Amino acid sequence: MADPVVAIVGAGPAGLRAAQVLAEAGLRPLLVDEGHRAGGQIYRRPPPGAERPAADLYGFEAGRATALHDLADALAPRIDYRPGTIVWGLSGREPAGFDLDCLGPEGHDRIAADRLVLATGAMDRTLPFPGWTLPGVFTLGAAQIALKAQGMAIGRRVALVGAGPLLPLVAHQYAKAGAEVVAVLDVTPLKPKVMAAPRLAAMPATLAKGVWYTLRGALRGLPVRPGVRAVAVEGTMQVEALSFEDAGGRRHRIACDGVGASFGLRSEAQAADLAGCRFAFDPVTRQWQPERSAQGRASHPHVYLAGDGSGIGGADVAELQGERTALTLLADLGRPRDAAREARLDRLLARQARFRAALEAAYPYPHHIVESIADDEIVCRCEGITAGALRRAATERDASEMNRLKALTRAGMGRCQGRVCGHAAAEILAHHLRVPVETVGRLRGQAPIKPIPLREPA
Ligand SMILES: Cc1cc2nc3c(=O)[nH]c(=O)nc-3n(C[C@H](O)[C@H](O)[C@H](O)COP(=O)(O)OP(=O)(O)OC[C@H]3O[C@@H](n4cnc5c(N)ncnc54)[C@H](O)[C@@H]3O)c2cc1C
Repeated sequence: MADPVVAIVGAGPAGLRAAQVLAEAGLRPLLVDEGHRAGGQIYRRPPPGAERPAADLYGFEAGRATALHDLADALAPRIDYRPGTIVWGLSGREPAGFDLDCLGPEGHDRIAADRLVLATGAMDRTLPFPGWTLPGVFTLGAAQIALKAQGMAIGRRVALVGAGPLLPLVAHQYAKAGAEVVAVLDVTPLKPKVMAAPRLAAMPATLAKGVWYTLRGALRGLPVRPGVRAVAVEGTMQVEALSFEDAGGRRHRIACDGVGASFGLRSEAQAADLAGCRFAFDPVTRQWQPERSAQGRASHPHVYLAGDGSGIGGADVAELQGERTALTLLADLGRPRDAAREARLDRLLARQARFRAALEAAYPYPHHIVESIADDEIVCRCEGITAGALRRAATERDASEMNRLKALTRAGMGRCQGRVCGHAAAEILAHHLRVPVETVGRLRGQAPIKPIPLREPA
């Protein structure tokens, strides 16, 4: 019998390790990734000709990045690798398997696969605040992509706002690259970080990196402020300044021309949704995730999940899960098992899970911000829908569930399909209705899950 076609979506740490295991077992997996060079988000590679030393680009992670890039290069001839290719649609095939609608350098292609490994990673989680749609405001991830891929800063005087461990990291990377970082504003207080420190010490090397970034930032004079409130970007045609209230209630205004903002990460889980996977609500990160067993199985018997796309775990977890998930898939295909290798991965993953729980406690998702979002604030920027329109739909038109809210207001119906506004809209709706956020549900995934030219779906 011919080998099954295994399609892996995502060539970050998770997808690459999965591809490696499958190729070692003699399969020729299909690896589809929208990036032009494999590596994913954290190990993003600049375009050919614009390379810089790994130590400059990836700091402490230079060794891991180089190892993964070398792996990607070595794997390319042994797998069916499709770079620069977006999976924008996914549907079940009779009697089994999937069709992947892809848009790549050669145009549209519909690819058949028997099994799926979804390793689609994450993106920034946004929350609206005054001025967040002004030109010059980027997500933290986009600010980092500009630096890693193009060697550019988002402005001459840059302010960074939000929550999550990427905030001090991006501040450090910008300062190291020579950019002027005029403010690093953390909307979460210091206390949860101090409280979580003993549990974070369970992985001393990782904690040490975080402490180093913070101390290095302090030595460079980075103005880091925890517990800030009432952040607003000012400007008419573009960012001119940022104002905020500090933890003590004092008002400040800082001139700047670039703002990076992010309130943590959210899983890119739309492909899992289209594949028919069941989702569960994670009360810690307040997001719906495709269900994933410790061995990497999704609820759908032919779908496997790895990396941030099924729960934010970071790059090391992504690599471990990629390897573990591919071993599970091979076992399900009836291939011989390596029980010792599986057990070692399970132990490492359990240790990482304890560390991650502490990290989530240190950087809670600051959903309390929605209390202060004014009615005239844009929430869905694709369709221009305000917080007031969402609240009115809830009160006057009985929109108490996210898909009904979308149908009535068009929030989440634009080119991003709710990937940017969906979480914020759910928090606003839940807060307005005084119900737990999980009760308003989640936006169902719809093709196209990534923006594509209109002619493609036709
Ligand atoms: C912008 C950004 C920057 C980050 N920077 C850092 C950092 O500096 N340090 C750090 O520790 N962590 C960082 N993280 C977190 C880090 O990315 C992850 O922990 C790690 O990369 C997870 O690996 P992964 O393989 O699960 O996903 P990723 O590395 O995100 O790889 C997923 C890949 O799937 C591709 N993909 C997704 N959907 C599709 C689709 N429909 N079609 C085709 N391809 C698709 C993506 O383009 C990406 O290449 C960052 C996250 C983001 C979003």
